[in-house]
Amino acid sequence: MKRRFYLITLFSLSLVITFGSCKNKAERKEKDTNTIEIEKEDVLSNRVLTKEEQERLTPQSVLEIMKLGNEEFVSDNLTVRNNSQRVRDAALGQYPKAVVLSCLDSRVPVEDVFHRGIGDVFVARVAGNVVNEDILASLEYACKVSGSKLVIVLGHEYCGAIKSAIDDVKLGNITTLLAKVQPAIAKAKGDFAGEQTSKNPAFVEAVCHHNVHLAIDEIRLKSPILKEMESKGEIMIVGGVYDMETGKVNFF
Ligand SMILES: [Zn+2]
Repeated sequence: MKRRFYLITLFSLSLVITFGSCKNKAERKEKDTNTIEIEKEDVLSNRVLTKEEQERLTPQSVLEIMKLGNEEFVSDNLTVRNNSQRVRDAALGQYPKAVVLSCLDSRVPVEDVFHRGIGDVFVARVAGNVVNEDILASLEYACKVSGSKLVIVLGHEYCGAIKSAIDDVKLGNITTLLAKVQPAIAKAKGDFAGEQTSKNPAFVEAVCHHNVHLAIDEIRLKSPILKEMESKGEIMIVGGVYDMETGKVNFF
């Protein structure tokens, strides 16, 4: 098959380009600091989820898609997307398959972490991935109104919000937010054997795990809508923690 290469200037086209070892995918060669070569067939221009495609998905299949996407992210086996085309395709409606409640942290780029693009997932972000009324409303909107099948509460290692909560930081509105992490700290203090300070990454991670579990409990407790959808099998609610060193999400 005749191969056609397109010379793309990074600063002129809005393609998401990820450098890496993309086996069986885009064969990319760096020419200089500004240009790379990409095969046309490896650029996905029209992969925004449709309503019909969303309806055919099950919560379990969406979880598998998200797990696979994370594996692709970890191994740099990523797809080049034509974002400008996807923006146009998604303009008239959105049918995302999942909603992720994530921390604010800039080191956890949620769509990238699950190898998803425009129109694929809702992302609700708040420091410490805590639950409040507006977050619950956002999750309800994603699932009940817009048809998403999966809720992922995503914590991460070395979380600054968790560390600040352990240190009992008091500062403006941050004080109120960090108070929501205290129940997780109390739980971790009950079952963690080592040094219980923010300087111990293992303790921070233990609090992070409890914080995700408690967020899921709170979603079930305070959102009868989501609880009913879950009990009917219409959605799944799962937790995960992002490994800052490997990029892997460990689901539980
Ligand atoms: Zn964080």
